[in-house]
Amino acid sequence: MSLSVAACAAVFGGAAAAFLPRVAHRLAVPRGTPARSACAHCAEPIPDWVRAGAACTCTGRPLWIVTTGALATGLLGAALGPSPLLLVLLPATVLGLLLAVIDVQCLRLPDLLVAALAAGTVLPLTVGALLAGEPGRLGRAVVVAVGGGTAYLILALLPGRGLGLGDVKLATVLGFVLGFAGWPAAVAGLVAPHLINGPVAVVLLLGRRANRRTALPLGPALLAGAVIGLAVG
Ligand SMILES: [Zn+2]
Repeated sequence: MSLSVAACAAVFGGAAAAFLPRVAHRLAVPRGTPARSACAHCAEPIPDWVRAGAACTCTGRPLWIVTTGALATGLLGAALGPSPLLLVLLPATVLGLLLAVIDVQCLRLPDLLVAALAAGTVLPLTVGALLAGEPGRLGRAVVVAVGGGTAYLILALLPGRGLGLGDVKLATVLGFVLGFAGWPAAVAGLVAPHLINGPVAVVLLLGRRANRRTALPLGPALLAGAVIGLAVG
């Protein structure tokens, strides 16, 4: 474990996450709808994108987003140490957190952001593996991406599963990253989301914050599972 790398990664993740609430609030809109230019709660105009802190003066401080960003990046920093992989994974984690926040708010994983996550991970990892003479990692990454994506596509096609195509696309991208990291990461990262979402659903049901028909976002569990997989793999 590398404490100094973990601390630097956590500071980066927490600081970057502080800028996410406003972006997430603007992008958490139904499919085909332009980004919000005013607060959904008080209609106060939100003209800019880049500002740290709450999405609007009427919303609370987004401490949980900052804390989650710091924890996820700190965990990766501690697990991976001073690895060049972190240069790809830390920005990807922040982008993933943005996706998770949007998914929680409106049950959507916007295609453009998933595509950005794919471009920000698949391209540099591919170039890095080829430069390092490790094409085998790419083969494993593609196998896990296709396998994970196909499994989630089958789940999405089953009636009543509440799984969207956004989840399938995200699982495919995360499968590539996890497969690149190794088989243990791939297995842990693809199993963990189900171990996370089950108890979350039970807690929400017990707290009467959801009923059996409430659609739960899968994106946050997929992303948290990927971070766990990368950390333990
Ligand atoms: Zn407001």
